[in-house]
Amino acid sequence: MRDFSQDHQWMSINTATVRKSRGQEVPLLDILDACARLGVRAISPWRDQVAAAGLEQVSRVVRSHGLALSGYCRGGMFTASDDAGLMRARDDNRRAVDEACELNAACLVLVVGGLPGALQGKAEYHDIARARAQITEGIAQLLEYARERKMPIAIEPLHPMYAADRACINTLEQALDVCDLVDPARSGDIGVAVDLYHVWWDPKLQAQIERAGQKRLLAFHVCDWLTPTTDLLNDRGMMGDGVIEIPKARRWVEGQGFAGFSEVEIFSYRWWELDTDTILRNCIERHRSVV
Ligand code: ZN
Repeated sequence: MRDFSQDHQWMSINTATVRKSRGQEVPLLDILDACARLGVRAISPWRDQVAAAGLEQVSRVVRSHGLALSGYCRGGMFTASDDAGLMRARDDNRRAVDEACELNAACLVLVVGGLPGALQGKAEYHDIARARAQITEGIAQLLEYARERKMPIAIEPLHPMYAADRACINTLEQALDVCDLVDPARSGDIGVAVDLYHVWWDPKLQAQIERAGQKRLLAFHVCDWLTPTTDLLNDRGMMGDGVIEIPKARRWVEGQGFAGFSEVEIFSYRWWELDTDTILRNCIERHRSVV
C-alpha cells in the first residue's frame, strides 16, 4: 500500500467538502485557487459549481493550476415516470459526459437515482424494481455514448438510506452486477466509485472489491461515519473522527492495483462553518495520518 504519511500528492478534494466557508457558498474558482495554494493536485468538482463558474473558465483555471480531476460529480438520476423524463435524463447525462471530457476527468461518477420525484418530496411511483430496470437501461445507453467520447463511467453505490430518493443501487455487488450485464468483456469503460461512507458496513465489501479488480475500480472516496450521525446527508465526518477502518479498505483497493487519487468527500454542516483553508489543512493532515 502506498505511503500517504509524508505528503498529500495522492489526495484529491471533492469540492463539496469546501462548498461553504463560514456558512457562505464559495465560488468554485476560489476553491481551485485555495487547492493550488495548498499543493492539492487533484479535485472532483460538482456540475452545479462548474455551471455557476462557467465551464470554459473552470477548464482554463484547472489547466493553468495543473489540477487533475479524480472524477466529475455527477451524472445519473436515470429514473422517470414517463418517456419524456427518460429522454431528459438521457440528454442530461450526455451533457455530463461532454463536460467531463472538457475537464479531462478520470471518470464521470453516477448517482443513479431512486424513485422519480422522491427527492422533490413525492414519489411518482413506488415500484423500486421498475426504477432499477430504468437505471440499468439508462446506464447501458450512456455507456455507448461515453465509449465514443472515451470517458469512463463509474457507478457509485449509495448507502441504503438513500434508496428512495437518490440511488437504489446500494451495494458494490449490485453495482458490479450492472457492470457485468452491460459490459461482460470488462472493457474498463465502466466500473465503480467506492465511497467508504456508503459501503463501509457491507459484510461483502472486501469480496466485492476483489471481484471488481483493477479494471472496475475507478474511484475511491474517503470520509468517516460519525456516531451519532445527526443529519442523513450533511453530517459526514473528517477521516479519523468516526468508525470507518479506512486504511484496511484502502489496502483492499490498492491490493487490486488501484493507483488513483484518494478523494476526500465530506458534506458537513459542521466543517462548512470553518473557513476554506482550515478545512483543507485538516483534510491534508488527516489524509496523512489516518487514511
Ligand atoms: Zn462519493
